[in-house]
Amino acid sequence: MTAQREWFEKDYYKTLGVDEGASAKDITKAYRKLARDLHPDKNPGDDAAEERFKEVSAAYDVLGDESKRTEYDEVRRLGPLGGMGAGGPGSGGFTFNMNDMGGAGGLGDLLGNMFGRGRGGGTGASGVGPRRGSDIEAHLSVDFVDAVAGITTTLFLTTDAQCSTCNGSGARPGTSPTRCANCGGRGVVDDNQGFFSLSSPCPVCHGQGVTIDDPCPTCSGSGIERRPREVKTRIPAGVRDGQTIRLKGRGGPGRNGGPNGDLLVQLSVTPHELFGRSDDNLTITVPVTFSEAALGGDIDVPTLDGSRVTLRLKPGTQSGSRHRVRGKGIAKKNRTGDLIVTVNVEVPEELTDEQRMAVEQLAQATTVNPRTSLT
Ligand code: ZN
Ligand code: ZN
Repeated sequence: MTAQREWFEKDYYKTLGVDEGASAKDITKAYRKLARDLHPDKNPGDDAAEERFKEVSAAYDVLGDESKRTEYDEVRRLGPLGGMGAGGPGSGGFTFNMNDMGGAGGLGDLLGNMFGRGRGGGTGASGVGPRRGSDIEAHLSVDFVDAVAGITTTLFLTTDAQCSTCNGSGARPGTSPTRCANCGGRGVVDDNQGFFSLSSPCPVCHGQGVTIDDPCPTCSGSGIERRPREVKTRIPAGVRDGQTIRLKGRGGPGRNGGPNGDLLVQLSVTPHELFGRSDDNLTITVPVTFSEAALGGDIDVPTLDGSRVTLRLKPGTQSGSRHRVRGKGIAKKNRTGDLIVTVNVEVPEELTDEQRMAVEQLAQATTVNPRTSLT
């Protein structure tokens, strides 16, 4: 079986249990989960699982690769051989072999595929239907304080964009694509096959209905160029390290009136020297002296907004104990987190003579062994 024929017949999306519009990330996620569950090491002697494992691997081999996936979608849409040839999308022709009729579905299906030009395919002059642009991934490093408060920032990207010289037509400015002489602009040609008259995509214009005689010098006729872009975006308050933000419609350009893809911005948040995070709470470790912990007292604690709050320690506060300062965490729409203060009793590395005497006195006055519970 040729790859094209195999592609036409196998629904790899179904194999992986994802929709046709699934993002690359979702596909990888679905694949990893299935591969883990079906792995032969985990299912020794289970032939069905092994067969499924192979199918899942074959499906991911195609869907996990952006260019193979695009080609696969094209083959599925136009039929086997539909995506071949030198041109871009929709090039080549639909070959039809009478011997195939027995193997394929009903006659109605076949006719539907041929005359309807495949599932989801456009009809009419333009042989290629609207195509969604690709999703683009970008990376953005955000300062801790900005991640907490939210920030408007500009991303600088070099991506595929509609060619600015020809506005995406592919034709040199001042010229326009001309109607294809082979198919008269229909994008399809009729083949007489006995009693059938079959339509197939025009091999000259690759189903586009137009040909470009004088290609745009910037994009060589593709209608797309690599271009630096600036994307201004608002990073919402409270984003986390490793989180991905999806900016709808800010990705690769759609073709033939299709929507643009999305821009997926993966964030990394630079750590703060004092503060950490736990969900919507901020965390900080505050050193205290033994006497503050033992006697209790008010200590001064910094907050992320630069103001300071007073935390009252009870006499006998333990090292490592955690104290909540309400409302000094991350402010989100519906709630504001807290500041969680961990108290750390610091033991001085060196003592003055006066301190040493005081500690020795304390030692003499200490009659309780704290380790009795260990015996
Ligand atoms: Zn151009
Ligand atoms: Zn044509």
